[in-house]
Parts: sequence; C-alpha cells; structure tokens
Amino acid sequence: MIFEYLAILRRRSDSGPKLERLPLALGTILTNGRTTTLARVCDSHLNRRELIITAGLVAAAAAATMTGLSPGTGSAAPATIVFPVQVAPGLFVLPRDCWGADLPPRRAIDAETVQFLLVHHTASSNTYPSGGARDVIRSAYAFHTSAAKGWADVCYEFFIDHDGVVYEGRDGALAGPVRADATGGSQGFAQLVCLVGDFTDTDPTAAMTDSLVRVLAWLADRYAVDTAPGAMTTFVSRGSQRYRAGVEVTTPTIAGHRDMSYTECPGDRVYAGLTGGLREQVHAQRAAWRGALLQAERLGPTRP
Ligand SMILES: [Zn+2]
Repeated sequence: MIFEYLAILRRRSDSGPKLERLPLALGTILTNGRTTTLARVCDSHLNRRELIITAGLVAAAAAATMTGLSPGTGSAAPATIVFPVQVAPGLFVLPRDCWGADLPPRRAIDAETVQFLLVHHTASSNTYPSGGARDVIRSAYAFHTSAAKGWADVCYEFFIDHDGVVYEGRDGALAGPVRADATGGSQGFAQLVCLVGDFTDTDPTAAMTDSLVRVLAWLADRYAVDTAPGAMTTFVSRGSQRYRAGVEVTTPTIAGHRDMSYTECPGDRVYAGLTGGLREQVHAQRAAWRGALLQAERLGPTRP
C-alpha cells in the first residue's frame, strides 16, 4: 500500500506539481525486529532542516548501535527499507513500519469520517535522543494494546518528535482516515496528532510546532476540514467520559484532547498555542499550499 502510494506521489511529482524533491532522503532499516535509521541522501535537494533531521537520525542510529540496542540478535530476518512519504511540499511522514514492522495491529481498524483534528501529547519525558521517539511509540504500543487498554494499535494517527520528524502511528493512517481510541473514550470523527513529550510546563520546540502546523494543514486539506477563523463542527458523540454516546458536540475544527475528555492532555503550553495563533498558522499554511498539494492526497480514503 505504502509503496503504491509512493509510486503515485512520484509519478505526480514527475509530471508537474511544484515538488522539488522526491521522498528518498531518509531511510529506515529494519533488522531482526529492531529498527535502525540510516541516511540515504539520494538527491542533493535537501533543505537545511531536512539535513539536520538526517544528521540527527544517523547520530541516533550510531548511538543505538554502540550501546548494543540495535540491530537485534540473530541474522535470519531480511532487512526492510522504509522510506519517508512526502505528503505535501516539505512535509515527510515516516511510515508505521519504521517503528512497528514487528508490532502489527491486533485487529482490523475501521475507517473514520473526519470532521475535526485533535492534538495530544504522550505526557512522557521530553528527554530523548534524535530518532528516539520510535522507542516511545513502541512503548505506547505496548501499553495501548495491553489488557489495561485493549486497543488494536497505538491510538494516535500521527506522532511528531522534537526534531519535527513525523511518524505514522495507527495502522493505515497514511493511506486514509482510521478510527482512533483515546483515554477517557473516543467521541469519534477526529484524526489524532500526538506530540512526543510532556507540555505541561514546557513549550514544544520550533521544529515540532512547525511540523504540527504542517500536519494539521495537510490533514485538513485531505479531509476537507474547515480551517477558516472560528470554524466549528458538530457531531453526535460515540461516547467519551465528557460527552456520552448520543450527545451532540460542537467543537473548533482543531481542538485539544481536553476539549473532548476530562484530561490535562495536550498540556497547558500546547493548548495555549492552539488558542494563541496555531489555528491561524494552519489556515495560512493550507492557503500557501493551495495548488501545490498533490492530487494523490485529494483522492481521500483508499479503503472502502
Ligand atoms: Zn490525549
């Protein structure tokens, strides 16, 4: 699926839209169930930020290797190269296989009808090496699929780390909209974007905020979510501890988890950002991309 999607993107980018680079700048290699990131600077058109991300991921891979964390033991499993997918100009998403090729979803995940976008944080440590978010996501998978939660997969569709690297989270999220889960129950109708760290007292990095704006703009455009100033949407909840099933909910189209459930998520600093200009940045980014976004993203869900 992912490679099919990549092929579409490459064809599209070859034939006109203003994409100056192909999604082959970074690679992730999976060896015996452990992931190691390596650099494949296949073209010379990386911008400065992408080069910084590349350098960070390489450093993390080297550190992991030196500490014996990666690659794993044994030698039977073939290596799998996972390429980031360019979903919009300058926005790359690392497919789920880069952190979870050996951690499949526990069951099929239904498609979602998207009406709004919901921002979360992991509420985990802000101290992790470049590329180390993958271990945080793997821990989230272990918890979310445990008996304590019983979910099919990590509950968030996308993760963003403090270098601004974007990861596909829940299985299928790159291909189309999938239903989420959430602590406190999921009211439904949202795609979830989760920042890796705890933003109760700490601001997200500039790179993280920049990627958050871009991911929200891309998803809003992909799923026709209104991002005009003051945009709201109304739906009937599927059931959270704040809005029980059947209750009509009206919300801003870009919201924080605390708007849907009684929780501190996504942390005061990120929540303040949402109401302090981030929504306007998303709308401006979307407008800046208009005409440059690929037709491939506009095709919408590829699942029935
Ligand atoms: Zn949350």
